[in-house]
Amino acid sequence: MSNTKSLDYRNCRALGFALLAFFLSCSALRAQVTRPEAEKQLAHDIYKQFIEIQSGFTTGSTTPVAEAAVARLKAAGFADSDIFLGGASANKGNIVVRYRGTGARKPILLLAHTDVVEAKREDWTMDPFPFIERDGFFYGRGTGDDKAQAAVWIANLIRYKQEGYKPDRDIIVALTADEEGGGPYNGVDWLIKNHRDLIDAELALNEGGWGDEAHGKKIANDLQVSEKYVVNFRLEVLNKGGHSSLPVPDNAIYRLAAALQRLSSFGFPLKTNEVTAEYFRRMAKIDTSSTKDDLAKVADGSQEAMQRVAALSPRWNATLRTTCVATQLEGGHAMNALPQRAAGTVNCRVLPEDSVDYVRSALKKAVADDQVALNLVGEPSAGPASPMRPDILKAVTDATTASWPGVPVVPIMVMGATDGKALRMAGIPTYGIQGFFLDRDDIRFHGRDERMGVQSFYEGQAFLYDLVKRLTKP
Ligand SMILES: [Zn+2]
Repeated sequence: MSNTKSLDYRNCRALGFALLAFFLSCSALRAQVTRPEAEKQLAHDIYKQFIEIQSGFTTGSTTPVAEAAVARLKAAGFADSDIFLGGASANKGNIVVRYRGTGARKPILLLAHTDVVEAKREDWTMDPFPFIERDGFFYGRGTGDDKAQAAVWIANLIRYKQEGYKPDRDIIVALTADEEGGGPYNGVDWLIKNHRDLIDAELALNEGGWGDEAHGKKIANDLQVSEKYVVNFRLEVLNKGGHSSLPVPDNAIYRLAAALQRLSSFGFPLKTNEVTAEYFRRMAKIDTSSTKDDLAKVADGSQEAMQRVAALSPRWNATLRTTCVATQLEGGHAMNALPQRAAGTVNCRVLPEDSVDYVRSALKKAVADDQVALNLVGEPSAGPASPMRPDILKAVTDATTASWPGVPVVPIMVMGATDGKALRMAGIPTYGIQGFFLDRDDIRFHGRDERMGVQSFYEGQAFLYDLVKRLTKP
């Protein structure tokens, strides 16, 4: 491997040891793997170019991002016939490029989305679109979500070609539109429906799992193998109403409020699945607090330990159960009229193994009032988890150890949604893995002053370069 190790000697002055011991101890403590300068520069330049193209869901376009990638690939010698550019509309371009291998195995798909959440100048302390490097961070909308991975996929693919690397399977990179916006322009949905052959693969790597860092210490490299899905219900009470000077006991607002009150004290059963049991098993090994034993017991299925752990953090609670929570309210039509209608939205984040019917019947029982209608909003569908394949876990673990010795890999189920769900539903197991380490208390995706550590970016580049090779080596 041609990885370079850059060492940081800041903490290693004047120790009085022999020079050799000095170098050994410092490199063991601070070894950081990044790619050679020219490759870092290329990844940086593509990243900067992507960030500076405004590709917000409503205000921008992903097509110029796709075109920029096409120009880079053509300049690097990729054939026109291996590059596809298209999308659901002129502003929602996707690019798919194929780097040909020996064909011994089915292809691997490397996915990233190129649209970003909107960013307003007045909400940020700086302009969100120029790519700014300051105090060890890259700033700009999309630096974390998801243009770092998009840039790295293209830069690394160009590098494989320069090397003459011959993988045992095609490596497909797809940079797609409207992950954030969803709807009819979503690039992954569109590709599955219209050009399945272009992206058909044995497995895919995507966003959804990143490096977990706390107080500058790397805790774990997360591997996302499943995600919850969203189900919204509208609770509604209708009433004939009347003049507010003549109130009667049967009141739509009171009725809805009582139903929501009962819902607030309802909790879905606590349980683990294959992914979350493994998550707690590995967290038990990492954790140094008094919770350590309980985390191990959760992995073994202890209900008592699940109760205690769920009470400790909203994240653990949401990992252990389907959750439903009231998020919106409406009701009444005049200050001086009895309400004819009261309604509320209940937003559920459902475990992949729980069905919509199950959630609806559980809510109906909790609400316990036939006059409160429980209407499903939209047509939600669950996505299966990706299998915990030992060969993939091993490749991720080996690549993680090579980059960051001693840092464990932790399989996770995420509460939010990614394009991985559509791929999993289409039969392409998808793994969220990035190797970009982020401070767990300062995740700025979708928020103000989004940023990515400069060193995190380059280490992620090297990690993904190595990981993809491990998954495509003859
Ligand atoms: Zn994203």
